[in-house]
Amino acid sequence: MTTETQDRETTDGFHLVIDALKLNDIDTIFALPGIPITDFLRIAQADGMKVISFRHEQHAGNAAAAAGFITGKPGICFTVSAPGFLNGLTALANATTNCFPMILISGSSEREVVDLQQGDYEEMDQLAIAKPLCKAAFRVLHAEDIGVGIARAIRAAVSGRPGGVYLDLPAKVFAQSVAKDVAERSLIKVVDPAPKQIPAPEAIQRAVDLLKGAKKPLIILGKGAAYAQADAEIRSFIEKTGIPYLPMSMAKGLLPDNHPQAASAARSYVLAEADVVMLVGARLNWLLSHGKGKTWGAGDSKGWGKQQFIQIDISPTEADSNVAVAAPLVGDIGSAIGALNQAIGSGLGKVPAEWTGAIAERKDKNLTKMAETLAKNPPVMNFHSALNVVRETVKANPKAYLVNEGANALDFTRSIVDMYEPRRRLDVGTWGIMGIGMGFAVAAAAVTGEQVIAVEGDSAFGFSGMEVETICRYNLPICIVVMNNNGIYKGTDVNPRGDAMAVTQFVKNARYDMMMEAFGGVGVTAKNPEELDKALKEAIASRKPTLINALIDESAGTESGRITSLNPAAAKKKTA
Ligand code: ADP
Ligand code: MG
Repeated sequence: MTTETQDRETTDGFHLVIDALKLNDIDTIFALPGIPITDFLRIAQADGMKVISFRHEQHAGNAAAAAGFITGKPGICFTVSAPGFLNGLTALANATTNCFPMILISGSSEREVVDLQQGDYEEMDQLAIAKPLCKAAFRVLHAEDIGVGIARAIRAAVSGRPGGVYLDLPAKVFAQSVAKDVAERSLIKVVDPAPKQIPAPEAIQRAVDLLKGAKKPLIILGKGAAYAQADAEIRSFIEKTGIPYLPMSMAKGLLPDNHPQAASAARSYVLAEADVVMLVGARLNWLLSHGKGKTWGAGDSKGWGKQQFIQIDISPTEADSNVAVAAPLVGDIGSAIGALNQAIGSGLGKVPAEWTGAIAERKDKNLTKMAETLAKNPPVMNFHSALNVVRETVKANPKAYLVNEGANALDFTRSIVDMYEPRRRLDVGTWGIMGIGMGFAVAAAAVTGEQVIAVEGDSAFGFSGMEVETICRYNLPICIVVMNNNGIYKGTDVNPRGDAMAVTQFVKNARYDMMMEAFGGVGVTAKNPEELDKALKEAIASRKPTLINALIDESAGTESGRITSLNPAAAKKKTA
């Protein structure tokens, strides 16, 4: 070594990872410490990064995914090798399915040992396992390449259709030293990580022509539209055209749910009757009955409806995934809706009053029916009387985030609780999975500082319930409402043999509230709407971690909520 190189100051992999993230405006890490990332997390915290450590990697990963959806920047999750990595993988795959940008960075064992399968501590070929489950996967073997690795991960996560990215960092990369001048040059500030994709003028014209000829137009807003943060453009397009719209669950609040053009209360009618349907960041997957069948007004369950589809999506291969799309509009939603707004000038001409009138009629009828159901106060609290309280609470606190999972707890909340602000509803998403609850709640509170209300089925809560400790440790303004009906779907199932509880039953009258108290938070049991209302008001006023154990009629609820038809036994009955 020459004297000159000896004199050069050095840095190491630990600091290079932190510097690379900071350079790209990433200031928060969701993680679970352990070999080989404990020291990394310590140094990150000492260097001023916000590090939130969890009790299970799946929830750290879910938090990163939700942070990605809320902010449009990739959420970052750090896990330890093999088992920790695998625990984080569910969240990474779920983020990819939902088109949420996140980067799972995992420490791993030494390549030389792993590749010869010599049995290292937590040995696993993580890169190979992650690859099919995410949008992109990379490995860095030299500390000088950390800058490139992070830059590629960021671009892959947020450009085009967003998704999950895996970045593999073998333990020894963290400790490698690099001369400071080399290190500085190796870092990359990603310029324009999610470039606009401007749709072609002829694609815009095709869509406008289709809309102009429509007698019964309908717009469907999906979570892609919420993610795009093009709120003003979208609202302006909808209001200028006067077209009725349906929000998918995580697009609720993009326009307030009580907007006069909202057609949610006439959902079945508009889906079956519409002639031109414009999808904005929504896929024609199972959540929209694949664009065909009875839902869409077709005679039989496999038949095609009479709709023509316009689909705005950033992914050029999404169109025609289930049914023919007459006018695909490939581009980012901001640019696409912006171009449509320009093309239509002050509007498209009036939507036929016959269509809007028929929708209004059904809406009125259904909303009146709903109001009557919500006004009932049965002796034992049920989903409706409890959720009526949540509905009023969100109305009074429209900036609050609503996290929601469960079966009945999900279905009822989605239809009963109106949203008023964009990106405030975080739920089970495209897979309809359980276990996102506490991870999503922690992310929303940590990233935005806003109040979070998590409406959880008692079963759903169990998947991430231990994170109440995390919520208390960081003193986050999260109020969890556990809809406790003593079981999965409901608590009244019986085991015909009588020698054990039925498979869907839980311990009766469980005290979920005491879980929160165990860590210093507030626990309350609510037996009726008044007690629930009081507890929610106190939680919001104090911003203290709170868990409300809401006792619900154990016979309330249906098997699998609204997707009973997906149970194999139900399918067998149908085909028999
Ligand atoms: P939902 O479940 O609410 O219907 P999906 O997750 O099915 O929504 O669909 C979201 C769609 O939005 C995906 O096809 C994705 O490619 C698309 N998307 C995500 N971000 C953007 C964006 N910025 N611009 C355009 N499309 C987007
Ligand atoms: Mg239940």
